[in-house]
Amino acid sequence: MAEKNSEENLMEKIVSLCKRRGFVFQGSEIYGGLAGTYDWGHFGVALKNNIKNSWWKKFVDGRRDMYGVDAAILMNSKVWEVSGHVAGFSDPLVECEKCKKRFRADQLEDVKKCPECKGKLGEVRQFNMMFATKIGAMEDSASTVYLRPETAQGMFVNFKNTVDAFHPKLPFGMAQIGKAFRNEITPRDFLFRQREFEQMEVEYFIRPADWEKYFDYWKGEMTEWMEEVGIDMGKVHELEVLPEDRAHYSKRTVDFEFDYPFGKKELFGLAYRTDFDLKNHKLEYIDEEMGEKITPHVIEPTFGVDRAILALLLSAYMEDEKDGEVRSYLKFKPNMAPVICAVSPLLKNKPELVEYANNKVYAPLKMEFGRVAWDDNGNIGKRYRRQDEIGTPFCIVIDFDTLMDHAVTVRDRDTGEQTRVKVDELQKYIKDKIN
Ligand code: ATP
Repeated sequence: MAEKNSEENLMEKIVSLCKRRGFVFQGSEIYGGLAGTYDWGHFGVALKNNIKNSWWKKFVDGRRDMYGVDAAILMNSKVWEVSGHVAGFSDPLVECEKCKKRFRADQLEDVKKCPECKGKLGEVRQFNMMFATKIGAMEDSASTVYLRPETAQGMFVNFKNTVDAFHPKLPFGMAQIGKAFRNEITPRDFLFRQREFEQMEVEYFIRPADWEKYFDYWKGEMTEWMEEVGIDMGKVHELEVLPEDRAHYSKRTVDFEFDYPFGKKELFGLAYRTDFDLKNHKLEYIDEEMGEKITPHVIEPTFGVDRAILALLLSAYMEDEKDGEVRSYLKFKPNMAPVICAVSPLLKNKPELVEYANNKVYAPLKMEFGRVAWDDNGNIGKRYRRQDEIGTPFCIVIDFDTLMDHAVTVRDRDTGEQTRVKVDELQKYIKDKIN
């Protein structure tokens, strides 16, 4: 079997697989959808949790210098005035005078002519991407609050709380996973550009003189995590962002770009935020040992959960051909797969098989691994195809021989190879494969 990661219509294939197999759906779909929003189904949630857990394990639980935060999404508007977002978090917007469609001016080749109807485009104006809403019963200017456009500020505003509660020594970091909201002018490309998405961010506080050392260090950490989860590193490229393209708070930014089917674009970013945020929030750090007061500088590795998942899906999607039939499958690493193994009685109308499969195989595996599926729908070939598309690394079949020899058939997703394994040894067999 020749496996290939076919690029042809890859996005269409991924989007349709995600819907068909219950990973990702268009947001508010039964009412015609809401642009820039997506809803996650059972297997999508599992994949997302695996990504987030792996990130948290590496960058928080696996370290001694990191403090977790889960800040509120609604934040006082002062935070965003001080952070520079009210004044500067905007994209250049142009509107076509003829068809009224709106575009991001920096993404157009010609800012005078509408790319759709060829009509005349109006003046470029700055469009602030933050979602504002009103809090409480009074609708005056004082009641305006914003949904956070980045998780970072949720950490900066808790800098003092964290220092007072845990007394960390420099360098140390704060980490957060959570939703962010941006009123993107043109949401597009599936999970890539949404209006509601999720971020995983670290703010790493350092002494100013150490910034280059820690910038390089975090570049390495980010690369390591991408490899660990199974993003195809052959499609990842580093881009040194030019000064005029950097965010208002950054003195150096390196973007990790990914070769998506719609072009080479940002996956994750690493920024040197200097002391921009802490200084603006008037926050300081007292180094008791050195007897000095300083404003630490910040290195910020930032990851989008949704772009991580898109890159992972694009990296894992495979097709192969056997006897003229094309099979598609998601070649996830076992610890990332939404389902670790699927348990199947060969025939669903044979109570002795069903009972054995349920009591002796499914129940103990479910207890041990959690992400275990019961699949008795259709013939075995159909079940394999379905589990292949979900990315399930192992399918376990209970047949009539099992009742005699207490062994099951374990079929490998990638090679199609079938191995007979004793029921008693099944958990160990799967654990060894995962590790
Ligand atoms: P872009 O240039 O693509 O708009 P950005 O530079 O504005 O991205 P950052 O502000 O650095 O993005 O956000 C940090 C991370 O959050 C990005 O690396 C990306 O993974 C994710 N992200 C940003 N905007 C979106 C979005 N609209 N939809 C999904 N993920 C996003």
